[in-house]
Amino acid sequence: MLDTVSLKLVLGVVTLTLCCLFLRSFRRTRSPYGGWWCVALALWLAGNASFLLTGTPQQVWANPLGNALLVAGAFSVWAGTRSLRLLPTPRLQLLAGPGVTAVASVLENPAVNAWSGGLVYLVMMGTGMALAARELSLLKPRGSQAHRPLLFAAAVLVAYFLCRGIVYLLEGPAGPEFRSYFSPAVTCVFLIMLLITVSFSMTELSNEQLINALRERATRDGLTGLLNREAFTELAEQECSRLKAVGSGSTVILADLDHFKAVNDTHGHAAGDAAIQAFAAACVASVRRTDLVGRYGGEEFIILLGGADPGRASIITAEISRALASSSPPGDMTFPTVSYGISSTTNEDTGLEQMIATADAALYEAKALGRNRAVSATQRP
Ligand code: GH3
Ligand code: MG
Ligand code: MG
Repeated sequence: MLDTVSLKLVLGVVTLTLCCLFLRSFRRTRSPYGGWWCVALALWLAGNASFLLTGTPQQVWANPLGNALLVAGAFSVWAGTRSLRLLPTPRLQLLAGPGVTAVASVLENPAVNAWSGGLVYLVMMGTGMALAARELSLLKPRGSQAHRPLLFAAAVLVAYFLCRGIVYLLEGPAGPEFRSYFSPAVTCVFLIMLLITVSFSMTELSNEQLINALRERATRDGLTGLLNREAFTELAEQECSRLKAVGSGSTVILADLDHFKAVNDTHGHAAGDAAIQAFAAACVASVRRTDLVGRYGGEEFIILLGGADPGRASIITAEISRALASSSPPGDMTFPTVSYGISSTTNEDTGLEQMIATADAALYEAKALGRNRAVSATQRP
């Protein structure tokens, strides 16, 4: 038989040590992944500390609190793995698991029942780890495979909590199988395995996350989140070559907000920024996920649509202008109208640079014709 007290002590010491080490490295790197693990470990320490009050009059609140803190730790691990994909975790989703666990625990007589809310606790721990495993499986690492052992450890824990939940449901916490194979001591062994795997991959994953965040910042425009000019050009060149190779053409749209200087002059720079952001959002909402949208400079934008179809491009420009006009501007301003230049090519020889130059000429024409319109270069004689 495993000695529960000793194992809990070892788990506590390992958790505390890792928490201190991760905190130290988090102070240096500010990696959100490392930060979330500090939070998870602190929650697990606090949760297990609450269980020290089992058997005392304090058990009535300490038991639900302990359950909720442990589940909050598992969900923090999930938030950490999401941060590896540069995704935020909505606070409500983060608090839902611990909240449900606490309520279930309170409803099952926690003053005398040390396993109050046990089934919900096991399901929620499994859910938190399963969500983390899912994020890790969706991670597309560039180079390193540091997340793989962690994915394996998370998957093992999910399977363990699943089996533990089923046996708990079948025979309760006092049953022979549960006490032999799924006792708190066995759980300690699995958690120690997870922590060793985490510490093994922490440095590499934190560094990768920081590099990805820097890469993201270097390719995105800060105001709109769109691709910046350099990143757009690089990706568009690749996409044009790919389209050419499969015998398909492409369409470039250059867009320029009309009389934008007047917007700044009349309503202020902040209102101008809001118009730029609203236009960027209108573009993203109107194109397919596979199309490329970039901020070409100031109040000029560029879009690459796969497939050489000026008709479709005209429909999209109308859709973008409609989306911009229907979004709500700040204060008493109205959003400016937009002029577009469209340049399409079939699969022949025209390069991206040439297409942009042609679209620019068409845009110039749209301005000369009175603005608030799209001119397609291929439609002209
Ligand atoms: P046109 O219809 O001919 O395009 O006229 P316009 O006033 O839009 O063109 P112009 O090139 O004269 O002015 C562009 C203005 O865009 C000038 C610049 O101050 C403003 N601008 C460029 N970048 C930003 C930005 O990031 N935020 C804000 N608020 N204004 C910007
Ligand atoms: Mg301009
Ligand atoms: Mg303009």
